[in-house]
Amino acid sequence: MTLSEKIRASYLVRKTRAQKTAFIDMMQSEFPNMIVEEGGPLKSRNLIVGDVASAKVVVTAHYDTCTMLPVPNLIMPKNFILTVLYSLLIAMPILVITVGVEILLRALTDHFLIAYWGALALMLGLCYFLLIGGKANPSTVNDNTSGVIMLCELIARCREAGVNDVAFVFFDHEELGLFGSSFFRSKHKKQMKEKLLLNFDCISDGDHMLLVLNKAARERYGALFKSCFTDTEKKTVHIEHSSHTFYPSDQAGFPISAAVSAMKKKGRILYLDRIHTRKDTAWDEENMTYLADKTLALLAAACGGAEE
Ligand SMILES: [Zn+2]
Repeated sequence: MTLSEKIRASYLVRKTRAQKTAFIDMMQSEFPNMIVEEGGPLKSRNLIVGDVASAKVVVTAHYDTCTMLPVPNLIMPKNFILTVLYSLLIAMPILVITVGVEILLRALTDHFLIAYWGALALMLGLCYFLLIGGKANPSTVNDNTSGVIMLCELIARCREAGVNDVAFVFFDHEELGLFGSSFFRSKHKKQMKEKLLLNFDCISDGDHMLLVLNKAARERYGALFKSCFTDTEKKTVHIEHSSHTFYPSDQAGFPISAAVSAMKKKGRILYLDRIHTRKDTAWDEENMTYLADKTLALLAAACGGAEE
């Protein structure tokens, strides 16, 4: 059984501390030099393979699992307004329930404050349950088991190819608000100032490779990304600016950052439609091979100083 198969068969859900500990123990046996760096407000545990201080590029992916949403989730990175409107639409039932309970409590108690605080507590409770405290999503193939497996693959490939100046970080607590990567950023602030951070999140469900580079990454590595990530018969590449692309993941906030994800496309709209739900089960081996090949080429060139 390959490591990829093992993770997908036995370590798919990583939400509770115990589930994460089991995953970390398995990873430690696969990568004996792996370091667990713990800290931040949620006691996040980030897993580091390689030396961040001496690395020229840091490659990352979050390993934590989100809460399962009962409704289809839709993200359209190039259509921010539509994405927000859709989020408001799926939040409607919560608003309806809140207002209904407020009216009911007011009728029953004839007391404005009881109705107000009762309805507010209910709304906050529902939000907490849906976003944080609820059941772990049992299907996490795309978000973000795919990113975790990509990092494992790249660790092996870089070793084989003798590309040494790369460090790999598996972030904790992305789903709760990028807590793991924030902790890492504060801890390695100076070290990250001049190096590229390349983040993989949701890369196995869609033929359109979306690469989002911030300004500094574009200036230093834009040409290299363009030359390495080229279209194939089945895979199309979209290299976009972070200033007008909405992809909230762990790359946000790092000085030189690039995010890699895979999207589906309908008309002109790039989208993700199954993450955070039971239907997050799509596994595309071709995406993995494509991205591993192209990323290795990029890392070899970047670490060889080709674009410095
Ligand atoms: Zn994710």
